[in-house]
Amino acid sequence: MIKSVNPYTGKKVNTFETHSPQGTGQIINSVDKTFRTWKNTGFSQRAAFMLNVASLLRNKKEELAKLMAIEMGKVVREGIAEVEKCAWVCEYYAQNAETMLENETIETQYAASFVSYQPLGIILAVMPWNFPFWQVFRFLAPTLMAGNTAVLKHASNVPGCAMAIEELIREAGLPENVFRTLLIGSSQVESVIRHPAIKAVSLTGSTPAGKSVAAIAGSELKKCVLELGGSDPYLILKDAPLEQSAIICATSRLLNAGQSCIAAKRFIVVDEVYAHFLEHFTYQMNEARFGDPCDPEITMGPLARTDLRDELHQQVLDSVKNGAEIVLGGEIPNLKGSFYPPTILENVKPGMPAYDDELFGPVASVIRVKDEAEAVKIANDTPFGLGAAVFTKDTITGSRIAELELDAGCCFVNDFVKSDPRLPFGGVKLSGFGRELSSHGIREFVNIKTVVVK
Ligand code: NAP
Repeated sequence: MIKSVNPYTGKKVNTFETHSPQGTGQIINSVDKTFRTWKNTGFSQRAAFMLNVASLLRNKKEELAKLMAIEMGKVVREGIAEVEKCAWVCEYYAQNAETMLENETIETQYAASFVSYQPLGIILAVMPWNFPFWQVFRFLAPTLMAGNTAVLKHASNVPGCAMAIEELIREAGLPENVFRTLLIGSSQVESVIRHPAIKAVSLTGSTPAGKSVAAIAGSELKKCVLELGGSDPYLILKDAPLEQSAIICATSRLLNAGQSCIAAKRFIVVDEVYAHFLEHFTYQMNEARFGDPCDPEITMGPLARTDLRDELHQQVLDSVKNGAEIVLGGEIPNLKGSFYPPTILENVKPGMPAYDDELFGPVASVIRVKDEAEAVKIANDTPFGLGAAVFTKDTITGSRIAELELDAGCCFVNDFVKSDPRLPFGGVKLSGFGRELSSHGIREFVNIKTVVVK
């Protein structure tokens, strides 16, 4: 049985029977059978289907946002924006997939030689709960447009969202079994990866889950793309526009109640502007209003699960025990629901969870440094490498740091890191490998085939 629990009320929301190993095998075989016809549909036909999906998503955005709110606590306003972004990625690949995967002629001594991008078969997606629709659609739109079929193992706390996605694809008129949800626990992922019809796997989630899936996929010589955790550094240089930077930093730290892989997590501030930045930043963090995620006045919902909230609080306590100081928050509020308040820690040092680990909630680690060089050194002093941002009025310096000095996959200047269908997205180091979105994402799960004719 897989069930979801409303993190605001603590009440059960949805319960589904899990798929048995035999049932899972039958689904995979059906999706494999559909692959043989789906791969031969043209781009224009697949694009028409994808546009249907986009328009259904737009029609159902309130309903789907409500489902996210009750299964994992996302405020409805953010949920609506998430569903709209899913529609955008479907439209984007409907419009661009054919050009991205066009044959590429290479001049050689042969009569003809070219590169062709052919689909692989069924791709398994293992997905997290924090953006229950976006994470799936940013994988699904390019995967289906490339001519692959797909199965999804979604996080166990959002089964209603997982089933809603399957239903939506069906309702949009795509052939039966082009995409299916597998209602299975993480212990069954291994046998799915080892199924001969599964050709590759894309996992978005924690670094331990990524290592486990990569090891299994590696032992089968199946490709994987891994989008894992992050501890994104935001550098505040001495000429940064402080008030504006503080607004952007707080927005990034608090979006989705801080449960985002690319949320700003460590704020590295040069000495000269430290006090002013902290003042503006504390004001902005304190502006958040937490409560019922379905209430339009509320800006921050509860964390997705009580165990995750308690884990975060323990990281805060362990950091404080080792010398971090609480500027704001840091105490579990006496409210029903798994809430954690916006929290700021300063005097954060190596050896503390707030410095070394990912804090997956609304907790900001503020670190004082003497200058730009030390800011870059501390920014890179992390096992993760997903996103990073630099705040400065000097955009030449900002882009130099972003391009050449920061060890991360997505580096922004004067804005917070966001995923965008047009731009490649992914990390380095323990944040994973491979890219999603843009032309890079759609080429991850294709056979880059060389064809030569004498
Ligand atoms: P998680 O515990 O790793 O779970 C992610 C998915 O992997 C779930 O479907 C989970 O299934 C499954 N899973 C967990 N352990 C597994 C294992 N050993 N073998 C196979 N599957 C396994 O992560 P989460 O708590 O849902 O999400 C938060 C994490 O995801 C954070 O670290 C965050 O930074 C990262 N994330 C990264 C990105 C990115 O784009 N880089 C985006 C969003 C989130 P169950 O739910 O059944 O355990």
